[in-house]
Amino acid sequence: MMKPLTTVLCLCLASVTTLALSTMPASAADPAAYLLKPARVFDGVDPKPHEGWTVLVRGDKIEAAGPAVTAPADATEVDLAGKTLLPGLIEGHSHLFLHPYNETSWDDQVLHEPLALRTARATVAAKATLLAGFTTVRDLGTEGAGYADVGLKQAIEQGIIPGPRMLVATRALVATGAYGPKGFEANVIIPQGAEEADGANLVSAVRHQIGLGADVVKLYADYHWRPGEPSRPTFSQAEMEAAVEAAHSAGRIVAAHANTAEGMRRAVLAGVDTIEHGGEGTPEVFKLMRERGVAYCPTLAASDAVARYRGWNGADPAPPMVAQARKAFGLARAAGVTMCVGGDVGVFAHGENAREIELMAAAGMPAAQVLIAATSGNAHSFHIGEQLGTVKSGLLADLIAVEGDPTRDIHAVRAVQFVMKGGKVYAQ
Ligand SMILES: [Zn+2]
Repeated sequence: MMKPLTTVLCLCLASVTTLALSTMPASAADPAAYLLKPARVFDGVDPKPHEGWTVLVRGDKIEAAGPAVTAPADATEVDLAGKTLLPGLIEGHSHLFLHPYNETSWDDQVLHEPLALRTARATVAAKATLLAGFTTVRDLGTEGAGYADVGLKQAIEQGIIPGPRMLVATRALVATGAYGPKGFEANVIIPQGAEEADGANLVSAVRHQIGLGADVVKLYADYHWRPGEPSRPTFSQAEMEAAVEAAHSAGRIVAAHANTAEGMRRAVLAGVDTIEHGGEGTPEVFKLMRERGVAYCPTLAASDAVARYRGWNGADPAPPMVAQARKAFGLARAAGVTMCVGGDVGVFAHGENAREIELMAAAGMPAAQVLIAATSGNAHSFHIGEQLGTVKSGLLADLIAVEGDPTRDIHAVRAVQFVMKGGKVYAQ
């Protein structure tokens, strides 16, 4: 589907940069050009859309964007009247190798589903994600599917299947005994949803995962040690620090699953880049995140989905897990923490990624601010902002168009009419 001449360029921007981005060969003569003509352009940075802007794309890059862009003779004009053009959305927390828990429980997906089945399903999930306007995902762990995310990413980059750009975490890392599935006879060896490692072995495991393809290192800073009990910290402060140091020195960002205030505090002090979930976050720990520049992925859509699987109809009063997530989101906003947009999609259906955006807006964040977070914000937090997340000359042409104006009605992000990734049109 894509041109076989695709090369892989490793961009080394800063000390921490991870995404290997596909790019067109620089020597190609007159790569295809498009002049995109929407009603307005939301550039990913300015909360106010630019009425009447057009965007010129050549090859895999944005060549120009503004009110007076002249189209070269060879440009194909794309009429997007009435629509808003915006940067491709960036999913901050996906699991392309999971499917909704109301279809199959997490335990059964990890223990009973063959790797080939999970991979086949992940290819469908990848396509649904791209067509929903999410042109990049940070996929935070295969949950028992090993390094299959590395292969899925390659299949997308080679144009074998359509899908988003992927930052992959491979297996993710948990303290021995902390994760699942569990609850089995002690003599039975049960495959785990992530790799167990501790102490010095944790550093080795971080390096091993990076060597095998991890763009981002995912650590579980806390978890339910036994089914039914509350989350408690897993890794020690020293373990977290050693793991983060190993990841950062290899140029990888670190995401920490953390629900407890203590797990969050250790993760922040260890220098992680993002905290996932954070339901029990306190004003003190969010203040610390703000001071240390750690971004927060509240995953409102995950708690919302799980509560619905347990019978909640969405009406108030919200069940405790939903109320807790909303409260943490409010505290984080009040503390001025940088918001990451990532719904933990996979818990709910791929292609429904916009749920997190809608729930963040419903919880009080202005629509334009949510959209900035889902584009340039996530790009910045994931150290890919020099290539993605903004409609600006020189950046990769990952662009979508939605019906209406999502800064006025956030639900417009679901009305995706046009998807371009790297200058190639996937939906129109
Ligand atoms: Zn997750």
